[in-house]
Amino acid sequence: MTWSVIATWKFSLTGVAEAGKLVACGRKSLDAVEQVARYVEDDPSVDTVGYGGIPNVAGEVELDAAIMNGEDLSIGAVMGVKGYRNPISIARKVLEDTPHNILVGQGAEDFAARKGFEKTMLLSEKSIETWFKMMNELKAGNKHIEGHDTVGVVALDTFGRMASGTSTSGISMKYRGRVGDSPLVGSGFYVDDYVGGAAATGVGEDIMKGCTCFYAVELMREGCNPREAAELAVMRTHKRIFEKTGKVGNIAIVCADNKGNFGGAANHEGFEYAAASDKCLPKIYVVEPV
Ligand code: ASP
Repeated sequence: MTWSVIATWKFSLTGVAEAGKLVACGRKSLDAVEQVARYVEDDPSVDTVGYGGIPNVAGEVELDAAIMNGEDLSIGAVMGVKGYRNPISIARKVLEDTPHNILVGQGAEDFAARKGFEKTMLLSEKSIETWFKMMNELKAGNKHIEGHDTVGVVALDTFGRMASGTSTSGISMKYRGRVGDSPLVGSGFYVDDYVGGAAATGVGEDIMKGCTCFYAVELMREGCNPREAAELAVMRTHKRIFEKTGKVGNIAIVCADNKGNFGGAANHEGFEYAAASDKCLPKIYVVEPV
């Protein structure tokens, strides 16, 4: 029976391996996506997702997450959530238990509390230290926006159902209330069982300009394989922005189709993803820039 799980960055490998076991045993692709994201959210060594994420300029860890069901295109997303470790699970509750697609800020936090999620401290010693260092750099005039590593996942289960999702603390030293591509449908993630799915990481301000994940899925619909779709979608967004501005932030995406094939692309060095399927053991793939 065909299944696959693919996720951005090396830090997803353990989650991908565990999620692969879930789908291999007949669990849903939604469970796999949630599982990978939770692994990364709970990992204190990852300072870009969940616990220990680098705070915003005001010193608060504001988290964004989303999950999408490729069967009926239902979506759950939360944005700017503070004090909860696993925003991916809150997003899934939004998808499954509300008539809405997105909850933000206080509304999302109230919802999480009503659903029994435990409020917790998200700052780690390391993230506080990093925040002070970055604050000093900002004060010294080194103002820049950096991509900083979202977990983005696409999964196919043995029933042919697909899901995708993301979880992130966003760009380091972002403004309070800033939202990137990650919880925005079509930009940070998209999936349709009829075709396949995509998830992104990089500078959200640029990724969302190209609706990059939706475009990648549409390219697969037109016959591209996941790697070609990822490359063309990244290139198109990059090229369009570069032509007029001369600069583009980091953009990387992973794609998978409904047959178990997967691939990734990036407009920069250093992008890696983790993937596993019924044909491939869990492994890290290094991507050459397009
Ligand atoms: N895409 C994320 C954001 O813009 C950050 C990242 O993936 O590096 O919030």
